[in-house]
Amino acid sequence: MVYSEKITLKTKGFCDIINITERVSHILKESPIERGIINVFCTGSTCGITIIEYEEGVLKDLQRAMEEIAPADRSYEHNRLLGDGNGFSHVRSAILKPSISVPVLDGTLALGTWQEIVFIDFDNRHRDREIIIQIVGE
Ligand code: ZN
Repeated sequence: MVYSEKITLKTKGFCDIINITERVSHILKESPIERGIINVFCTGSTCGITIIEYEEGVLKDLQRAMEEIAPADRSYEHNRLLGDGNGFSHVRSAILKPSISVPVLDGTLALGTWQEIVFIDFDNRHRDREIIIQIVGE
């Protein structure tokens, strides 16, 4: 079967990293699915989903790496064409990707001890966000 649910978030933008593991896990527990796969997908072109150890140092390291890969102060064609100033946000989002999948075993997320699911908002302003959780299994 397929079980779908949504998570809504208010973010600060500018590489705001939000741990959504508990909320995803809660949705999985409310579903009848014991074995399958869960997909976590954000519906935005300036955000991303990944898995990371949720520890202050590595979160800062990831934010710095994103600044190095797609610096906010570089000139972007997107900014020239649309004037919304978030070219760096779109590039970071495309590199990180909008979704991740995690196996579901015995009704729980098969994450490693230090793996946490995070939503990252790369936009250049605060945003209201929606994340789609889709669980496929039996
Ligand atoms: Zn834009």
